[in-house]
Amino acid sequence: MTIPTLAIVGRPNVGKSTIFNRIVGTRQAIVEDTPGVTRDRLYGRATWLTREFAVIDTGGIDMGDEPLVQQITQQAEIAIDEADVILFLVNVENGVTDADERVAQILYRADKPVILAVNKVDNPERRNDVFDYYSLGFGEPLPLSGTHGLGLGDVLDAVLAAFPDDQADAEDDSVKFSLIGRPNVGKSSLVNAILGENRVIVSNIEGTTRDAIDTHFEALGTEFTMIDTAGLRKRGKVYENTEKYAVLRAMRAIDRSDVVLMVLNAEEGIREQDKRVAGYAHEAGRGIVIVVNKWDTLDKDMHTMQDFENHVRDQFQYLDYAPIVFVSAKTKQRLDQLPRLIMQVAENQSRRIQSSVLNDVINEAITVTPTPTINGKRLRIYYMTQVSIKPPTFIVFVNDVELLHFSYQRFIINRLRETFDFEGTPIHLIARRRQ
Ligand code: GDP
Ligand code: GDP
Repeated sequence: MTIPTLAIVGRPNVGKSTIFNRIVGTRQAIVEDTPGVTRDRLYGRATWLTREFAVIDTGGIDMGDEPLVQQITQQAEIAIDEADVILFLVNVENGVTDADERVAQILYRADKPVILAVNKVDNPERRNDVFDYYSLGFGEPLPLSGTHGLGLGDVLDAVLAAFPDDQADAEDDSVKFSLIGRPNVGKSSLVNAILGENRVIVSNIEGTTRDAIDTHFEALGTEFTMIDTAGLRKRGKVYENTEKYAVLRAMRAIDRSDVVLMVLNAEEGIREQDKRVAGYAHEAGRGIVIVVNKWDTLDKDMHTMQDFENHVRDQFQYLDYAPIVFVSAKTKQRLDQLPRLIMQVAENQSRRIQSSVLNDVINEAITVTPTPTINGKRLRIYYMTQVSIKPPTFIVFVNDVELLHFSYQRFIINRLRETFDFEGTPIHLIARRRQ
């Protein structure tokens, strides 16, 4: 499902990153940390009053050492391109500055709702200064204090009200996937090769501008939607070649996908940026297929494939569930396997297991490998039930949540994987206490 996007803009030091962290903070706290994944202030997901949305901190897209005016101009343009609603942040300590006016000029041209918030209103005396910002021309300026968290609720209420109505792609049950990977790994070549082999569907459905760059095709009697990714279709913007922007686009494509093809280059192996993006897909609960492209370029012997697989498994330990396929966009080797793999992973991601079957599996597992005793107290597992799909999410009712350590969670997840086909999909386990 497509979730709406909020982008935060404003000149440096107004508090963009502080506000960004406050907005996404509540959510990130509940996601387990993935080792080796650096978090940054660029893109995140948030929930307010049960509505989920994405947040971009345009201050996190640094344009190297370009002059300030150009930086904020480009950041505002990215916000206009990527967001449904823009949060324009100013700092009450400075009054209206030239840079604020500059940002306002750019935002006027956008056909997007703009919410103006005045940050660093830490005490009531400051509230009167907020009215000065009416002059920027975006209606009522909302007071905010990032450090104290004051005013954020009103700002988010305004943001939610400005989001477009929930246009759930209800009738679109195609399998959505994207190809993610560093520049030059062969994403465009793979896209062309895949489309060359399958029947492309020309869609008449009016989409948003963002969806219009998706491609629909049919294979194995199923409709697939290939989601546009950074670098595939250039729009001729200055910032398109920056690495941060590429990461941002990748994260957005992941959010819209059921299945992510993580494309690696056989010649170059795995880099830091690959891990970052793969970690995001894992945490977002997406199905993942690891595609090692340019397989034609290696001199191979009997061990090459196994060695490469070991290397990938070692570098992406948390992706132990993801299938790996070795392909060549150039020779088309094994490309015909991709649609089936994508479809299977999407199916596994939506698999539902009946509670009765689930509990048989768990009871048997416990009999073979008894639950641990920690500080004299034995973990008891009473019951387990699946609460959602995409990814499959299970609640385990136990006597004490603290006793369900990582290793026993791991054990349960492995038992589920051995019994049911969950290849390619993460599994989420939530422990709950039952009296
Ligand atoms: P950015 O450059 O726009 O992302 O701004 P930052 O979020 O990095 O904030 C710049 C500085 O302002 C930091 O030292 C923050 O701690 C501080 N700051 C952020 N919000 C507030 C606020 O509401 N009140 C005060 N007094 N300081 C704030
Ligand atoms: P992207 O930046 O990830 O979209 O990568 P491209 O598809 O533009 O490919 C980058 C370069 O790698 C181009 O010169 C391609 O011709 C080449 N390339 C892509 N796939 C393969 C492959 O499977 N084998 C070989 N030998 N070259 C490839």
